Amino acid sequence: MIGVDATHDVVIVGAGCAGMRAAIEAHDAGADVAVISKLHPTRSHSGAAEGGINAALGNASEDSAEIHSYDTVKGSDYLGDQDAIEILCREAPEDVYQLENWGAVFSRTDDGRIAQRPFGAAGAPRTAYAADITGHVLIQVLYEQLVKRDILVYEELFAWKLVENDGRCQAVICWDLLDGGLETIGAKTVIVATGGAGRLYVGTTNAYACTGDGMAMALRVGVPLKDMEMMQFHPTTLAPSGVLITEGCRGEGAYLLNSSGERFLKRYAPNAMELASRDVISRAEQMEIDAGRGVDGSVLLDLRHLGAERIIERLPGSRELAMTFVGVDPIYDPIPVRPGAHYHMGGIETDVWGLTPLEGLYAAGEVACVSVHGANRLGGNALMETITFGRRAGRTAAEWALSHTTIDVPASAEVDAERELRELLDRNDGERPWRIRDELAQTMHENFGVFRREEQMQRQGEIVASLRDRYENVYVQDKGEVFNNDLTQALELGFMLELADCMVVSGLARKESRGAHARPYDYPDRDDENFLKHTMVTWHDGTPELDWRPVTITKWQPQERTY
Ligand SMILES: Cc1cc2nc3c(=O)[nH]c(=O)nc-3n(C[C@H](O)[C@H](O)[C@H](O)COP(=O)(O)OP(=O)(O)OC[C@H]3O[C@@H](n4cnc5c(N)ncnc54)[C@H](O)[C@@H]3O)c2cc1C
Repeated sequence: MIGVDATHDVVIVGAGCAGMRAAIEAHDAGADVAVISKLHPTRSHSGAAEGGINAALGNASEDSAEIHSYDTVKGSDYLGDQDAIEILCREAPEDVYQLENWGAVFSRTDDGRIAQRPFGAAGAPRTAYAADITGHVLIQVLYEQLVKRDILVYEELFAWKLVENDGRCQAVICWDLLDGGLETIGAKTVIVATGGAGRLYVGTTNAYACTGDGMAMALRVGVPLKDMEMMQFHPTTLAPSGVLITEGCRGEGAYLLNSSGERFLKRYAPNAMELASRDVISRAEQMEIDAGRGVDGSVLLDLRHLGAERIIERLPGSRELAMTFVGVDPIYDPIPVRPGAHYHMGGIETDVWGLTPLEGLYAAGEVACVSVHGANRLGGNALMETITFGRRAGRTAAEWALSHTTIDVPASAEVDAERELRELLDRNDGERPWRIRDELAQTMHENFGVFRREEQMQRQGEIVASLRDRYENVYVQDKGEVFNNDLTQALELGFMLELADCMVVSGLARKESRGAHARPYDYPDRDDENFLKHTMVTWHDGTPELDWRPVTITKWQPQERTY
């Protein structure tokens, strides 16, 4: 049926930690709220987060918002916006206590306070955790709060297009996964909280659903994407699945060893060793592997000296993952690990209230780039960002919605979408989406991975262009209405191809090494004089256009970064 199927004050696309926290806040501010999700909320990828959430509670040693901010600025390789970082670090403790009050069962110190463990590049043990299933705990607690408030969740609706009309975002066009057909959900304000895009890579910690949908949807309505070259590689993922072994293992004291049993980090980060920042450790591992000092393309994560009791109490999930996916019990043997695509520091450009440059459109969580992570995210800061900036986006989107009354969604928006969909479904031959998807993920890994070379990035640009040409002829074999994964995977592939294009354009333009963007062969150093700025990509006639935006500096001038 053509027309708006429902309208709300605030519609949130995504039901992970960011989306649900935003929904709670918008509801409590008095707005009529609905959440759209292609998955059941508790299956959102936030539930996979293991190690914990950062807030300067000071429960393990002296800590403060100031120290947390400094660590985050330094960790970001000075590309993070310091106003946003200061907000995150100042507001984080209250947000964590709020989660606790809602029932989050954090692990405890002996005297009953929230326990905190050390994480990479943190000046104090700051990561609050629930064993190694922190995300699982948080997502249950947030969902409970949604249910308690009776917040409407459109489950298994696949958001495909944002509708911009009259200079405002006013609706979301979705494919109904359960029954088929398009639905248009009108909204005075829309918050995009669709998570990351790790599936652009073949070896990734991210779930199948992490295909960057929200970033691409925003791009298509003219909103810029910031720092898209900044894909973080996590140093401890399992080969070949990409399953994550949490940084919590190193927080508890695990060692990283090469094939000679050497703790090789003494040559790369002699002070912080295994607790250096992720970009530093991923590069060190890759150097060891490339120099032939790896073990079957991995290095070894050794927990044995922690002892069985501590492993079982603090890291039960990691032990189980290692036993299930590589057949190794870390009580007795080291786990083979290697860098894997993990987290997108880049994303939809927002201000510190989650507002994008398009009126009525907000973003929060991994899909957004506010930017608190700059060129390298610290472990534990992503979950915190989902909560603090999810809350802020929910509040501000609700306030705006409550002071503006009407929405106007042109019928042509859904008519055009319907025609586009029909063209795709009526095609009876062509190339299957998974072929293009596999090639994209494989080549992104080869040509836009831990280390980047000019010619490889250029080559990747050509590959993406040719994959986009082939995508014009993509063939959806399943013509059915009910749970047509073939169709949704084709739509996701369309999103990912455009994002890959944005990443390559941004990567080629950044002629320096900073955080996750490491160019040791042509531009080995950070170049603050020319590149202390964000890449910004907008979409014009199907091609990315690059611009720059200055980094916001409040207190911390760039320094050399050593660990
Ligand atoms: C294995 C793993 C472990 C991690 N551990 C930690 C950790 O210990 N600490 C930490 O700080 N960070 C961690 N991170 C990072 C952190 O978990 C994520 O960045 C964060 O949870 C993302 O939350 P989100 O709400 O932005 O997105 P998600 O939780 O991914 O939620 C996205 C939501 O959007 C919905 N969605 C997506 N596309 C569409 C669409 N087209 N239509 C409708 N709905 C859509 C999905 O259904 C889902 O509900 C980890 C990441 C991984 C991969």
